[in-house]
Amino acid sequence: MDEVLTGLLRPKNIAIIGASSTPGKIGHTIVKNLLESGYEGGIYPVNPSTDEILELKVYNSILEVPGSVDAAVITIPAKFVIDAVKECGEKGVKGLIVITSGFSEVGEVELEEELVNLAHSYGMRVLGPNVVGTLSNSDNLNASFAPFLPLNGSASLVSQSGALLIAIDAITYTRRIGFDKLISIGNMSDVNFSDMVAWLNEDENTKCITLYIEGLREGRRFIKESANAKKPIVVLKAGVSEHGAAAAASHTGSLAGAQKIYGAAFEQAGAIQATDLSDLFNCTLALSLQPPMHGDNLLVITNGGGVGVLATDSAEHAGVPMKFAPESVQEELRKHMPYFGSAKNPVDLTGMAGNDWYYDSTKFAFAHDWVDGLVVLYCETAMTNPMEIAKSLHRAITETGITDKPVTISFVGGERSDNAMQWLVENGIPAYNDPDLAVKAMGTLRDYARLQDLKNEIINNVNEVDKKAVLDLIEEVRTSGRTGLTEIESKQIFKAYGLPVVKTAIVTSEDEAVEKAAAFGYPIVMKIVSPDILHKSDAGGVKVDIKNEDEVRDAYHTILENAKAYKKDADIHGILIQEMAPWGTETIVGSINDPTFGPTVMFGLGGIFVEVLKDVTFRVAPISEKEAHMMLDGIRGAPILDGVRGEAPRDKKALVDVLSRYAFMITDLGDEIKESDANPILVYEEGKGVKVVDARIILTDK
Ligand code: ADP
Ligand code: MG
Repeated sequence: MDEVLTGLLRPKNIAIIGASSTPGKIGHTIVKNLLESGYEGGIYPVNPSTDEILELKVYNSILEVPGSVDAAVITIPAKFVIDAVKECGEKGVKGLIVITSGFSEVGEVELEEELVNLAHSYGMRVLGPNVVGTLSNSDNLNASFAPFLPLNGSASLVSQSGALLIAIDAITYTRRIGFDKLISIGNMSDVNFSDMVAWLNEDENTKCITLYIEGLREGRRFIKESANAKKPIVVLKAGVSEHGAAAAASHTGSLAGAQKIYGAAFEQAGAIQATDLSDLFNCTLALSLQPPMHGDNLLVITNGGGVGVLATDSAEHAGVPMKFAPESVQEELRKHMPYFGSAKNPVDLTGMAGNDWYYDSTKFAFAHDWVDGLVVLYCETAMTNPMEIAKSLHRAITETGITDKPVTISFVGGERSDNAMQWLVENGIPAYNDPDLAVKAMGTLRDYARLQDLKNEIINNVNEVDKKAVLDLIEEVRTSGRTGLTEIESKQIFKAYGLPVVKTAIVTSEDEAVEKAAAFGYPIVMKIVSPDILHKSDAGGVKVDIKNEDEVRDAYHTILENAKAYKKDADIHGILIQEMAPWGTETIVGSINDPTFGPTVMFGLGGIFVEVLKDVTFRVAPISEKEAHMMLDGIRGAPILDGVRGEAPRDKKALVDVLSRYAFMITDLGDEIKESDANPILVYEEGKGVKVVDARIILTDK
């Protein structure tokens, strides 16, 4: 565990630089909050113009504090912060909690850099600046200006928004969702989400890591740390787009939205994505109290047919569709219901169900091997007492001794049901006031298990690439003052990474064209080669299905004329003679170099699917074979690849190979390639492979 971060977040003693005797000032609130939270470590207010604050001795400088100081909370104005950091460094402080604002968030980027560099020169870490502070129930520590410690629990929250953190602090009591730590991360000048995930993964008091993210630094490290975490991570990402405005030179560039790429990255990180604040709480509750759901069999027990049907619908949406329970399970369950009940699944105990039937059926079902996850629903009735039902359910679950299988509960009713659910949550069982939420929570626990499996996938690297030849070619293009590669140059690179590109040659005279065409064998395709013409067909620069010498000569002239008409002074390298690929399903594979996550690969179906429907998926490269499969299956048009209307299934295996190779290529050439695409890639019937027909690479500006 990182000792410096431990000193910062679980300090044994703490100084407050800018402590104040004036109530209402942040420097006063922090001291007061530390005292009120019952913090048992040393509290050292620092302020040269006061002697005593809230009966604590005040020091002129942190250097006068006796003994060591783990963390210093800084609340003085920005312009004085640097001097304070220096003194903290000399004192041997481990971490700084910089509450002061007025740094990068208002454009003072250099001042913030100076602060971090100075802190690092003393081996200190910086939380903030521009933070609310940090809170920890297990340390009775409220080193913040949030009013009180959150409801005690086993999740820990890291929030990029200070205001939201304060709001969540209060919500923990009304929603009855407990947290151990609330950490405000502010401008993330130094300590960022990756640091926090790594540290909280080691924190013994944290069972679930909950993140409110506006934007990440070190995107790849975040994926790595999260994928390594042994605890569930749930994120709510606010939709700030830093991509939208960027002019894109490739298809992929124009399709890449920040949300899409963040979404892919979170999946690769193994993190659960919440859709909104309520969902963040609901997921946190489930993940902090229950284990993942390791199989697909969900059983629902209810006393109302209606909520049973609702739950069945919800299960479908939540990715845990219900199946009928096996006959042996039904037979046993029938013993705990009247003859008009149903043991199928949902198991309807009917409105006659009391404590005993709930207890017996729950205990049997939860212990049964067929059941991978259990949801118990209860509608308040005149004959039953919600609290007694809650206690029966809890007893039934605990008596099985099973701890590696999840259960969630929903009571539908009034205040008595609310109180019963509160009791359940306090006793470790997530309970929700809507059956849909209980089922969704189970879906989340199932998703968590699925993401865990995915994290362990092996990524196959591509061997035997003549990288030197590739880099030489890139260098040549750069030397000629270009960043856009022509189709044939791009294909040379694709080919080096083992992508199946169509046979292509460049010619510079009509006779040479005829000669090459004959050598390739008809029919052939001819195209313009010009770095000034990116979209060749728009310029009349593509002629397909050329069948003989006359047509070659004809096309040669037409293409050149069209190109000149399109762009008068276009730099023309020549004409391509290309093998004509047979018709196949059009797909597109592309890449962008994302500012947060680096090389990211895209997949979609070609034609209107990509143009109109923008039906594409992204993943941060490189990717495993399973991930490549998930990309193919992740688009709405996925069934097309499986064969529709009597068509044979397409060669997904070959496509998966191309996707993984492509992802490897853009990773391997990470700082060289800005955007690229293979559009189209024609996909043939199973066993017949794919052909890359067009290629485009845009280099990074160096
Ligand atoms: P651009 O995208 O620059 O307009 P392409 O090289 O993609 O140019 O060609 C346009 C279209 O022509 C392709 O989408 C494809 O349908 C067809 N095409 C191009 N080259 C071939 C080829 N070698 N074999 C078969 N069809 C081709
Ligand atoms: Mg194209």
